[in-house]
Amino acid sequence: MGAGFQSIVDVDATAGEARDLATATTTWLVESGIVVPGAAGTRYAPGERYHDALVEPWRGAVGPDALEVVTERTVFHPGANHSDEVQCPCCGSLVGMDELSAVIGAWYDGDATPAACPGCDGGVGINDWAWDPAWAFGHLGFTFHSWPPLSREFVAKVAARLDHRVILVDGYL
Ligand SMILES: [Zn+2]
Repeated sequence: MGAGFQSIVDVDATAGEARDLATATTTWLVESGIVVPGAAGTRYAPGERYHDALVEPWRGAVGPDALEVVTERTVFHPGANHSDEVQCPCCGSLVGMDELSAVIGAWYDGDATPAACPGCDGGVGINDWAWDPAWAFGHLGFTFHSWPPLSREFVAKVAARLDHRVILVDGYL
């Protein structure tokens, strides 16, 4: 079994904003006791109030692992359990990952032009396709490695702090 992770991804932050937003958010997370600074600058360990971020208190033998903060252009994907087709949010057409891989490649190269859906011809932004399970494309992500499920309230608080749209990507490495 692989290691699970949950990434809260800010899909609105620009490359230029990512570092300052990361600093502000991690400062708040440390002040809240959710995490404590770790050995490396971009990794944090669970803090004494990490339970506050969870759906329910964790009683497992093995606790959560690091929070990793990513501040560069990244395709946040769910790892091994992704699906091979993605749905258009406008017309419901299923588009194969083979087709979308070109869109993902273009985004990674810096071209955020919405892709035309073959079903309805509408332009769909890369974060607007109905990825299931979720994918997210952005410059700022907070990846919680091996944490029990994060609560909706916690994810909403992070989004409110960022004042941006966030997407939660849940996956396995
Ligand atoms: Zn469509």
